[in-house]
Amino acid sequence: MQRLIVIGGGAAGSAVVGEFLRRGQPGEFDLTWLVGRQAPGRGVAYSTTAEHHLLNVRAANMGLFADDAGGFIAYAQAQGWPVKGLDFVPRTWYGDYLEAVLAREIFAARARGLALRALSVDAASVRGNDANGYVVGTVEGEEFDADAVVLAIGALPATPLAEVTAAAQASHAYAADPWHWPLPRHSPERVVVLGTGLTAVDALQSAARLWPSAQLTAISRHGQLPRSHNPAPGQPYEHQASLLEALRAQPRVARWLREIRDAMQDDGAEWRSVVDGLRAETQGLWRSLDVDERARFQRHLRWLWESARHRLPQQTTNELARLRTQGRLKILAAHIRSIDKHPSEREQLEVRVQPRGAGNVRSFAADLVIQATGFNISVKATDHVLIRQMVDEGVAHADELDLGLIADAEGRLLRADGTPRHGLRCLGTLLRGSVWECSGLPEIRALAKTIACGLPAELRRVAKPASARTSTSSFNAASVSTVV
Ligand SMILES: Cc1cc2nc3c(=O)[nH]c(=O)nc-3n(C[C@H](O)[C@H](O)[C@H](O)COP(=O)(O)OP(=O)(O)OC[C@H]3O[C@@H](n4cnc5c(N)ncnc54)[C@H](O)[C@@H]3O)c2cc1C
Repeated sequence: MQRLIVIGGGAAGSAVVGEFLRRGQPGEFDLTWLVGRQAPGRGVAYSTTAEHHLLNVRAANMGLFADDAGGFIAYAQAQGWPVKGLDFVPRTWYGDYLEAVLAREIFAARARGLALRALSVDAASVRGNDANGYVVGTVEGEEFDADAVVLAIGALPATPLAEVTAAAQASHAYAADPWHWPLPRHSPERVVVLGTGLTAVDALQSAARLWPSAQLTAISRHGQLPRSHNPAPGQPYEHQASLLEALRAQPRVARWLREIRDAMQDDGAEWRSVVDGLRAETQGLWRSLDVDERARFQRHLRWLWESARHRLPQQTTNELARLRTQGRLKILAAHIRSIDKHPSEREQLEVRVQPRGAGNVRSFAADLVIQATGFNISVKATDHVLIRQMVDEGVAHADELDLGLIADAEGRLLRADGTPRHGLRCLGTLLRGSVWECSGLPEIRALAKTIACGLPAELRRVAKPASARTSTSSFNAASVSTVV
């Protein structure tokens, strides 16, 4: 029997565990799921209870499994929720779906004789053993033997920007984690959000509701909010095939920008359709770039791509526009120079910025600063216990540009020499440097299926010494809680 361990209890962990359960034959494997400290299923994005935090993918395309892209809309409609396929619904509803679909798959798998134990513990280490397998350690000191391990831990914990002084961090007026803010004793008059992407928009919406008289400022280098979805998707771009051919022929970022701009200016072309038509090919295109071109993309094009690709539902765009018209929200294109305790006793923090294109540094006071600069995937500097151990001990390797871990297109973690590690896979945001796009559900579920189909076969190909089949797990059931 194959011993599989999945680490991480968010949507990516759910997708891969669900795929194993749907595909597994009775007696084929023994599956352990280390879900971390939260209940399994929702993870970071779908734990919100705020109804104004909407999905940015249409309901019709949010099924958890690759073979069932319509699974979410079917579930929602069966519940009698007022949802149509083109709608962008509250993320908390999606969290309900994740929990329901997991419960269904676990129940069905158990009825077929497949075992799953889900434990609310954090993995602290993954080390190879002598038998071509792994030993997974937990923060409590338990150890589990495994023939294969799948990492699905999402992004790394946020760390404060380098420009934020220790005094500012200690002031409790600075929130490095955009999901957990200190609630000031008095309603803040000035709230600054660092970043203008999707996470920043979440923070702005919540702050606007919590403190209706607060002045909000969002700051990013380019000062660009995500673009908006159309109410209905446009027609596919007519010349998508030749555009792709041109991009593949010349893997140069400057060239790509010209090709994509030209395509958007074609008669009758809708820019969103041009961008959306690239989605299925993004991973291959990214992999065709050499490291200099990848760095160039990061520096010059990433902000533009992100604002065009990760779009907002129209309702959210309208809400932000209303706040701006009312004078409650300002968007600033600027570089952060420093964030420190304010010199006056009355004020909390002083934010110093250099507006884009202008020489003069400006400073202003803020009662609360929320860092919402996007996913942290900086593996080289992280203090995430598990990733620190894996990278320090050479079990996993940081991407050259520090965009997560190096892996191949099927999520196999690679050794320093580029060869794949047997039985060790990863999916989700930490694959940014390897495949660029693996943080949205459509890419996550595709890779979850690839892993669940490929991993058992990969294990069967590698014969193990008989002695290695006996579990030496030092798992002590009393010290961890089983969550499903
Ligand atoms: C604001 C926001 C909105 C989004 N909206 C959408 C959307 O509308 N549609 C879409 O497709 N995508 C959306 N996304 C992308 C989203 O990231 C993915 O859809 C998906 O939720 C990612 O799940 P994950 O499991 O990879 O990560 P996470 O949700 O971060 O889950 C990872 C889990 O692993 C756990 N963990 C970490 N370390 C360990 C450890 N050592 N041991 C055990 N467990 C560990 C964590 O506690 C966490 O529970 C959104 C993201 C954000 C931030």
